[in-house]
Amino acid sequence: MNIARANEILENTFGYKTFRPNQGEVISNVLTKKDTLVIMPTGGGKSLCYQIPALIFEGLTIVISPLISLMKDQVEQLTQFGVDALFLNSSLSREQYRSNVARLKRGDIRLLYLAPETLMMDATRNLLKNLRIDCFTIDEAHCISEWGHDFRPEYRQLAEVRKEFPEAVCLALTATATPRVREDIRNILEMRESATFVSSFDRENLFLKVADKEKPLEQILDFLYTRPKQSGIIYCFSRRQVDELYSDLKYEGHKVLPYHAGLSESDRTKNQDAFIKDDVNIIVATIAFGMGINKPDVRFVIHHDMPQNIESYYQQIGRAGRDGLQADCLLLYSYSDKQKIQYFINQKEGEEKEIAEKHLDSLIDYLEESKCRRVPLLSYFGEKADQQSCGMCDNCLLQEGDMEDLTVQAQKYLSCIARTGEKFGAYHIADVLRGSKAKKILQNKHDEVSTYGIGTDWSKNQWIQLSRLLIRQGIVEKDADHGSLLLTESAQSILKGDERVLGLLDRTQTSEAGEPITRTSDEVEQKYNEHLFEELRKLRKRIADDQEVPPYVIFPDTTLMEMSYFYPMDEDKLIGIYGVGSAKMKKYGSDFLKIIRLFCEENGIEEKSRVLEKKVKKSTTLKQHHLVGDEYKKGKSINHLAEQFGVKSVTILSHLKKYLDEGNSLNPDLIIEASELSERKRAEVFSSMKKVGPDLLKPIYEDLKIEVDYGELRILQLAYLAKNGDQN
Ligand code: ADP
Ligand code: ZN
Repeated sequence: MNIARANEILENTFGYKTFRPNQGEVISNVLTKKDTLVIMPTGGGKSLCYQIPALIFEGLTIVISPLISLMKDQVEQLTQFGVDALFLNSSLSREQYRSNVARLKRGDIRLLYLAPETLMMDATRNLLKNLRIDCFTIDEAHCISEWGHDFRPEYRQLAEVRKEFPEAVCLALTATATPRVREDIRNILEMRESATFVSSFDRENLFLKVADKEKPLEQILDFLYTRPKQSGIIYCFSRRQVDELYSDLKYEGHKVLPYHAGLSESDRTKNQDAFIKDDVNIIVATIAFGMGINKPDVRFVIHHDMPQNIESYYQQIGRAGRDGLQADCLLLYSYSDKQKIQYFINQKEGEEKEIAEKHLDSLIDYLEESKCRRVPLLSYFGEKADQQSCGMCDNCLLQEGDMEDLTVQAQKYLSCIARTGEKFGAYHIADVLRGSKAKKILQNKHDEVSTYGIGTDWSKNQWIQLSRLLIRQGIVEKDADHGSLLLTESAQSILKGDERVLGLLDRTQTSEAGEPITRTSDEVEQKYNEHLFEELRKLRKRIADDQEVPPYVIFPDTTLMEMSYFYPMDEDKLIGIYGVGSAKMKKYGSDFLKIIRLFCEENGIEEKSRVLEKKVKKSTTLKQHHLVGDEYKKGKSINHLAEQFGVKSVTILSHLKKYLDEGNSLNPDLIIEASELSERKRAEVFSSMKKVGPDLLKPIYEDLKIEVDYGELRILQLAYLAKNGDQN
């Protein structure tokens, strides 16, 4: 059977164990020569859908691709896998072109990548006429449709040209989800609906987070701090913003380069190359950046400013984590960004304005979602989220303990808005509550209203954060022209005490999920040896520079991670590692084995037998407390973990308690470090615990003669339990 052959190629040539969703089905369909349309999100694995059949068909497979950089990348990757592939386009020198044509005529080649305009040339058509062609692949097939975001007139002619190869099956692939475009592709290429394969657009490995934009530079620095050496893209709205952020980050010592349309073409290419080759980690860019980037190990995408709409947001975050490992997407959201976009929309008219408004609304729905973010995101693409809670977005990660009851403060705030006549903005209201003597307050006689000075218990910043939360929850509205705050109906019920306000005040933390915390995707992803990984990375970079290709073309991160987990010592074991096919084995096997052996010798590490025959299935409802516990055991403090996971330290404590309750051990000394009490007071708390038992906090609290808050008690309780667990 052909599909058995496909499996064999998957394993031997590419070094992968199983097909990703729909790959097997698509390949079977293509092998029976049925025209096929494939809709798969970025990173879904579209390339294998035609690359594997190409290795099975007797004749040639043509791949039409619009971007020269992508073609080059694909051919480089295939060459590394030992597959004979080449491209013809305008970037080749005369000699290269001629030698490529000669190889084609000899029948040495399995895959030929072509730009559409090259295909239209008479010389190319004459060349192809004399070759057997079994598959005609159209990559980025949305370019065929005027409804897509990237229409290319040359693509239109493909429908005619393909009729010149009646023996060839036609395979079209795209990551564009809109039904209109899909239908267009099918109609133009005269395909049947039944042969369409649509994959889910849920990118499970992307962690989605939206934070209030307050001090963006600080927030981004915090975020980057927990991600040293990772590759990532930071998108900004304007060129000016790109330049500014770029120099700020550079000043802070980050390896970073800018990218926008204002740079010369050669600078842009140079900067993009440096990113792809891991010479720099970070690119700060406008939306001009990203097309034609195939880098699989982009570990984060940050939006410094609001994206234009959900579709472009999805496309931009889609550039992260193509390798299937966790990647983080952070968006900094501010009300004034929203107003900026609203302002541009207001300049438009008629249908155009209506569409723009709809786009903005869907984006805002996503940004202001208080439950799982995958629900509004997927519903935009006409899909339903699998679960109510994905475990891979900021909202799903929040625990009930993180929610605060803000009703009383909200009542103060709302009544202050009412008392000042709903004519003022958030800062002014905060000033009134805090009893400010600013001129504007005195002029308006706001020092005489009853809410003047009743909010000194909170900082101005806290009040501003509350105002944002009230806006997000639709309790307050902001007047678009003046920025004054207006009360809505639900504000009335809160003032009357009929409804409560629950929420999390500080949404500015950005350093969430520094390491995989929710997906126990893979034992390997979490437990590989980071030191060996670094060594292997260096080797990979040397080889890549030598061959003038990007490092990921040699091996993706996943391969290095498996090597740093299983410690394979010989070729037999190495061939079982992800991404090691026979060609790469021959080329690089001994170099990598040498480093692994040396490392293991020096550190007294033994090879691990491959117990993980199949990768642990990705589970999204996961045991977070195990992850927290494991991290804690690496010596990270509670505060560090709180920052890393972007939660409060209380939450970390409760995870650790669960971890402990399950019989795991913890080092009590590190826990005590989190306490701010004097040693004397700590001793008193411990003796109370001994007396009344450590399990319930209230009796301890009451037993104590000194005032100790519950936060401290929780820390000491955990320390106490950890210590006693040790003794048992
Ligand atoms: P797309 O073109 O849909 O964005 P790619 O074809 O570039 O995606 O594949 C994304 C990454 O996933 C590549 O690094 C590829 O090697 C890898 N990949 C594809 N299919 C598989 C598979 N079945 N098993 C493991 N890795 C795969
Ligand atoms: Zn979620």
